[in-house]
Amino acid sequence: MYPRDTKDRWFQGQGLWSHVPESDWKNWKWQLKNRLTSVEQVEKYLELTPQERAGCYFSGRKLALAITPYFFNLIDRDDPNCPIRRQIIPREEEMETAPEELLDPVGEEGSMAVKGIVHRYPDRVLFLVTDRCASYCRYCTRSRLVSNAQDYNFHPEFESGLAYIESHPEIRDVLLSGGDPLLLSDRKLDYLLGRLRAIPHVEFIRIGSRIPVFLPQRITPELCEIFKKHGPIWMSIHVNHPRECTEELRQATERLSYAGVPLGNQSVLLKGVNDNVETMKSLVHRLLMMRVRPYYLYQCDLITGSAHLRTDVRTGIELINQLRGHTTGYAIPQYVIDAPGGGGKVPINPEYVKKITDSEVVLRNFQGKTYRYPLVNGVPVASGVRPEEVSVGCPG
Ligand code: SF4
Repeated sequence: MYPRDTKDRWFQGQGLWSHVPESDWKNWKWQLKNRLTSVEQVEKYLELTPQERAGCYFSGRKLALAITPYFFNLIDRDDPNCPIRRQIIPREEEMETAPEELLDPVGEEGSMAVKGIVHRYPDRVLFLVTDRCASYCRYCTRSRLVSNAQDYNFHPEFESGLAYIESHPEIRDVLLSGGDPLLLSDRKLDYLLGRLRAIPHVEFIRIGSRIPVFLPQRITPELCEIFKKHGPIWMSIHVNHPRECTEELRQATERLSYAGVPLGNQSVLLKGVNDNVETMKSLVHRLLMMRVRPYYLYQCDLITGSAHLRTDVRTGIELINQLRGHTTGYAIPQYVIDAPGGGGKVPINPEYVKKITDSEVVLRNFQGKTYRYPLVNGVPVASGVRPEEVSVGCPG
């Protein structure tokens, strides 16, 4: 029996692979080489349900099956509804496509300026640098492209992407994504970050990665040196459930933080995974303990075969309602819907402003109580002070 994660203790150790030398276990290339990628390999460790087995066989036509040994350890093998299992083991529901579901749910193809560059917002681009990930999330927005199960035939084209960014002075922000950019070799990442850093108008470079979560062994001192060299490099990781916050992940985020990488987290709201307040609160608290700021909570995109993982939008609003005022403000992510068809991220918030008139703003606080903020002709006023004398003080 390996050490179980509890409320107070975070999972650590080699679990089912305790017979493997520690030097192998801590080697990210060993983890990649020993991923579970077939029904037969998974069934060596886990009794699949008939629905899961059917999903696994179908995965080769939608999104490949792959799970690192490290992440597989986090599955509760006695629970078919385990929240880790739901994210990573294919199910037969993936074979069903609901009428509202799309292959490209957020309309990236329509904003593809050159191959691999999605230019939707004026000052920033998404740069897709690979189609591979350490493990594959069953609700992936880029299932069409990632793992090449659907024959998308994506080939990273660094030079044309870099040339596009160089020739567009309005681009000040570049997000490297894929697939997972941290699967690139140190040499390639060093080259890519160096080229981007040399472009005078690129102010802000960030990486979207689930590697720290699937493969924390990849966050090596050598990789951290590359981030230091080209810093500041910002990073959004992707943790959905508190059980993913292991001791190994905590150490990886510490290494990244010490290398000067500011960390945010993007979670996807998923049915049966994190759609209740107790789980979400535990997740955001653990993130803060790992130096990671909860950034976005995404409504699950309308990707084909994901209906079984999607929640009602009202569930997301209620979750934020249950967090705001009930825990640290830093712990509260922005709930967003990435608008179908390419509309971009739209923030979705509970209603706290009940009414605005020329004389007041009527507010609802986290306890549901009503408060009034006075205005004179629509301008804030402190008692006895004329509107033109009102100044904005330190928000602290
Ligand atoms: S890590 Fe990201 S890109 Fe890769 S499968 Fe998961 S959601 Fe998709």
